[in-house]
Amino acid sequence: MTDSSSSAAASWYRDSIKVELAPTPALEGQVHADVCVVGAGITGCSTALHLAERGYKVVVLEAQEVGYGASGRSGGQILPGLGTDMSTVEQALGLSAARDIWEMSREAVRLTADLIKQHDIPCELAWGYLHAAVKPRHVRELREHQDTMARKYDYRALEWREGAALKEHVVTDAYPAALWESEAGHLHPLNYTLGLARAAQQAGAVFHGFSPVSSIEQGTPARVLTPQGQVTADSVVVATNAYGDALLPRLSGRVMRCANYMIATAPMSEEQAALVLPRNDALSDANFVLDYYRLSADRRLIYGGEVSYDGRPPRGLEARIDGKIRRLFPVLNDVQIDYRWGGDVAITFNRAPDFGRVAANVYYAQGYSGHGMAMAGLAGKLMAETIAGQSERFDVFAAMPHRRFPGGRLLRTPLLLLATHFYKLRDRL
Ligand SMILES: Cc1cc2nc3c(=O)[nH]c(=O)nc-3n(C[C@H](O)[C@H](O)[C@H](O)COP(=O)(O)OP(=O)(O)OC[C@H]3O[C@@H](n4cnc5c(N)ncnc54)[C@H](O)[C@@H]3O)c2cc1C
Repeated sequence: MTDSSSSAAASWYRDSIKVELAPTPALEGQVHADVCVVGAGITGCSTALHLAERGYKVVVLEAQEVGYGASGRSGGQILPGLGTDMSTVEQALGLSAARDIWEMSREAVRLTADLIKQHDIPCELAWGYLHAAVKPRHVRELREHQDTMARKYDYRALEWREGAALKEHVVTDAYPAALWESEAGHLHPLNYTLGLARAAQQAGAVFHGFSPVSSIEQGTPARVLTPQGQVTADSVVVATNAYGDALLPRLSGRVMRCANYMIATAPMSEEQAALVLPRNDALSDANFVLDYYRLSADRRLIYGGEVSYDGRPPRGLEARIDGKIRRLFPVLNDVQIDYRWGGDVAITFNRAPDFGRVAANVYYAQGYSGHGMAMAGLAGKLMAETIAGQSERFDVFAAMPHRRFPGGRLLRTPLLLLATHFYKLRDRL
């Protein structure tokens, strides 16, 4: 078993890389760029790609390696929508803006597929996703959700599944019903992220790994400092998400950093896989502290579902996930767990993503709240549009109000822990 909760170096994703980048040496000395992007996850790589394609001179500074953060560790589910229900957006911005945001979230999924095709990214993209009820309350909520999305958003890609029809997708007695979504799917997140970086390099963007940004001095141009170098840039994009806590004081408290843990089993036989997810869908259950899984192309079960707020893996993590897998799928009784790793998610107070500016020429997108695989790609495209002078679509998101987590740095974590215990309790009812 390989444990990589503190480093991305040994996750199953790192052991199955199929995309090679041009070298990304640490920054040394002073360079100038039109745009300096800080952070090379999906947000940063997509921003760099879309800007470089528009002819901007782009320098990307990454503290570790490309894909080191959540983008290279995630469950790989690409889903329309946000980390919160659309009603949160309706209440804040009204139905019309909520519809715009919903349609852009669908665009985010299409963009992901388009980028994979256009740049020939080998990342195992597959379609089909189940949102599964665990208890009767969820069955009612999913019915309402399907109805609301059709009525208010004219969204028809959600289909009801229960009984034998559900077992054609997932072979377990654990779920009384599910919504099957044709416009959602899954992929290998690290190969996807590296593929975006490779495409950005080919379009002219320059990437520097192991170049942690220590400060951003605002101005025109802005100065972005690393231990051995600096970039002066007309614009700066901060794409550090959960990993960039102390970089911009003005963003402090707008997201909560929360660790998520995943495992990968040993590869299954074709017969076993057909008795787990015969149609190769991804699945999330409807609990607030949710479990989610999918199959890799070599038929490993990639399963996520434990969280912690102090950066340490929860005690008994592996045994708990192991027990869940065996209860869901008795056919996996003897399957071995080959890998375990963790990664950090940035959660906002209302679970809607947080896009905005800290100065006229310093932009950020963060806080996807566990729902960023597709949306981060669109965020990069929207920031590129904005820098090129078309900010209307970015500003629809930037209008979303966000509260800071109360309590300052010391109290924030205990408060979130309390809230999570409440929701865990609620999940049991
Ligand atoms: C375990 C896990 C499972 C997930 N599953 C899903 C899923 O199935 N579906 C889904 O939609 N979302 C999922 N997510 C969330 C999703 O992965 C993220 O929303 C998305 O990847 C965010 O991308 P990003 O580029 O904004 O941030 P990241 O990918 O986190 O990238 C930020 C980068 O910034 C770098 N950085 C930080 N500080 C600095 C600095 N000072 N200088 C330079 N670089 C810096 C970091 O090293 C990092 O590489 C999951 C997340 C985790 C952790």
